[in-house]
Amino acid sequence: MRIAIDGPAGSGKSTVAKLVALDLNFVYIDTGAMYRALALKAHRLKIEFSDESSMVEMMNHTYFSLSENGITLDGRPLGEEIRTSEVSMLSSDIARYPYVRTYLTEQQRNLSRQGNVVMEGRDIGTVVLPDAELKIFLTASIEERARRRYAEHLSSLKEIDYESVLQEMKVRDFNDSSRKIAPLKPAKDAILLDTTGLSISEVVQKVVAMAKK
Ligand code: C5P
Repeated sequence: MRIAIDGPAGSGKSTVAKLVALDLNFVYIDTGAMYRALALKAHRLKIEFSDESSMVEMMNHTYFSLSENGITLDGRPLGEEIRTSEVSMLSSDIARYPYVRTYLTEQQRNLSRQGNVVMEGRDIGTVVLPDAELKIFLTASIEERARRRYAEHLSSLKEIDYESVLQEMKVRDFNDSSRKIAPLKPAKDAILLDTTGLSISEVVQKVVAMAKK
């Protein structure tokens, strides 16, 4: 079975997807981490995302796989370095380029063939796994989403204020939903779940119940 969980930044999809996978004993695949890791790799190599031939050359020498501890890039596990604000913005930028999306979509489909999976992202139900057996689209108000991200930053002791988190989220929402290719939107057959005011475990229970139906 394949479960697709999509939604905007801070909708709770990573936490929910991870816990649903744990509950059902499915493999969890975080596709946002792949955009982040690829953006950081290109950035470190000083490759402009708009330089298609250099990007394709780099992607031809890039491989993602799944280990027990999650996704690896070129054989190395992805660490906290992909979670900075800078990498968030870089990943939202790299995601605009069709050759990047084509490459990552292909990689994600390969990873999904590992068996039962919960895959989360922005375009899983619409593009990557359009025939997934269960599609969930999580939403929440932008203020609530920014509050959640802010709390995550606080707990990791990063110096950042709520207003900057909210602003960054607005920019990413705009980029993600206005891009021409694979814009963030629910698949026609996705189940919409508004998580504003719900606890994580309430959302997880709902999704697990749907999967078991
Ligand atoms: O989910 P996360 O915030 O880690 O994703 C980082 C960025 O990667 C998003 O802002 C989005 O632009 C991009 N992304 C995407 N399609 C996906 C997953 C992530 O465009 N399936």
